[in-house]
Amino acid sequence: MARLIDGKLVIATHNAGKLVEMRELLAPYGIEAVSASDLGLVEPEEIGKTFIANAVIKAEAATDATGLPAFADDSGLCVDALGGEPGIVSARWAKEAGSFVAAMDGIHRRLEEAGAKPPYAAHFVSALALSRLGEKTLTFEGTIQGTLVFPPRGALGFGYDPIFLPNGMDRTFGEISSEEKHGIPADGSRALSHRARAFQDFARACLG
Ligand code: IMP
Repeated sequence: MARLIDGKLVIATHNAGKLVEMRELLAPYGIEAVSASDLGLVEPEEIGKTFIANAVIKAEAATDATGLPAFADDSGLCVDALGGEPGIVSARWAKEAGSFVAAMDGIHRRLEEAGAKPPYAAHFVSALALSRLGEKTLTFEGTIQGTLVFPPRGALGFGYDPIFLPNGMDRTFGEISSEEKHGIPADGSRALSHRARAFQDFARACLG
């Protein structure tokens, strides 16, 4: 285990919900995290075909612009009966629908139109990338399997949280605290959320 980051780290996201989660995850390591939006960085186009490719694009754009190490996440919700959609375009679906409430409703409608029957299997994916000037960008990926419930339940978290019921639990991501969702268990056991799981692997490899 090596400590690959000292001092400032750019969190290459313009998503306020993800920024809060990433700051909380990094806080115990004493890393000074500044966000891409605080630095006024332009958001690069996410033209990658995978979560990993898009996380790399975001991290490397922030390092290119600042010279600082940068940490980026690309994530999304993949619904089995919709062929893995919305996947890497999860944010775009919400933007086009006008809100996450409308986007969640849209997923329900598409499932019904596709003739799918509950339980609707789905998973969240989080890809993390750490870029450093002149170094190879490192990547990590975490997933969490579950089912989708309609109507949405709970007002906690963000995005698609209220329709996602993790396997083995009776509360959606919208009904559990952020600590329970993305806390890192002190005993070294597996974290719950996709982002926390990817973060555990990142922390082991990079924050040692
Ligand atoms: P991006 O990674 O910025 O492209 O956005 C990913 C999209 O997936 C956003 O619309 C998020 O709201 C959604 N998403 C990613 N992770 C989560 C999560 O933990 N809960 C709810 N929605 C999520």
